[in-house]
Amino acid sequence: MITFRDHTPVPRLGQGTWYLGNDPGREQQEIQALRTGIDRGMTLIDTAEMYGEGLSETLVGKAILPYEREKLFLVSKVYPFNAGRKNIFRSCQQSLDRLGTDYLDLYLLHWRGRVPLMETVQCMEELVKEGKIRAWGVSNFDVEDMEELFRLPQGNHCVVNQVLYHLGDRGVEYSLLPWLKEHGVMMMAYCPMAQGGTLRRGLLNNPQLKQVASNHHLTPTQALLAFTLQDPNVISIPRTGNPEHTVQNSQVAGVRFTDQEMELLNQAYPPPRCKMPLNMV
Ligand code: NAP
Repeated sequence: MITFRDHTPVPRLGQGTWYLGNDPGREQQEIQALRTGIDRGMTLIDTAEMYGEGLSETLVGKAILPYEREKLFLVSKVYPFNAGRKNIFRSCQQSLDRLGTDYLDLYLLHWRGRVPLMETVQCMEELVKEGKIRAWGVSNFDVEDMEELFRLPQGNHCVVNQVLYHLGDRGVEYSLLPWLKEHGVMMMAYCPMAQGGTLRRGLLNNPQLKQVASNHHLTPTQALLAFTLQDPNVISIPRTGNPEHTVQNSQVAGVRFTDQEMELLNQAYPPPRCKMPLNMV
């Protein structure tokens, strides 16, 4: 558990939902997967209007029905082309309706588009005042984007930047993660398991990763997830539609690697030595 600047407690291990809700035949299993996570403390759920064009939000809405709203931390994202005055209020309301709730804990700009940042910030602030969202943030913002954001009035009210981060893609460690820490912004790691290893060939078969995983009686996939949580400024949002995988993912919450284990992982996948462009999927 960590706290935002406004002291809101947030679990550092949450649940992603990209692709969930797309296949009606898998609905019950996916709902069960999300509920298994909530029951195990993974009460932060990340979704977006983009995911299945609302199907993921609808699925989340069904999954959370038995739970008290205040126990959950719901995150959704607005498309860049909806992030201006013309559309954002409707987009937000539609997300709320699909989720079956009257507020979001966190609303993110999914990635930068053509709407001026200043306009998005002003709209986000209005949504906060209206009680539709408790806080706002961004996604896929590199250091220069963050600097531009923080130069705007109220731009520094941004509480999260959600970015691609896993053992095989550590570029953010060079300057983005330190910048976010310095400015009190949490980093939320997406694709923490490299989409089941598919984003980086050989990742799950790496001998050092396997060694570290076996030290902790983890699978290599669990160890990938644990890696993203070693830095206390990081929130991680693994996605699964399989309740057994949810249980495995929840077991990672308290895993701490030793300095020697981190050194092993650094040998296999060295931390960046210079600024790398921010990758996104
Ligand atoms: P991910 O969480 O890294 O990986 C998901 C894959 O891992 C699925 O194929 C899943 O398959 C598998 N998996 C999960 N747990 C497992 C386990 N214990 N053992 C073996 N396999 C396991 O990838 P992601 O879904 O792309 O990223 C996570 C979340 O981040 C997304 O769902 C979304 O909420 C968010 N995201 C945001 C952005 C953005 O631009 N802001 C971009 C991408 C993702 P099973 O279902 O079979 O378990």
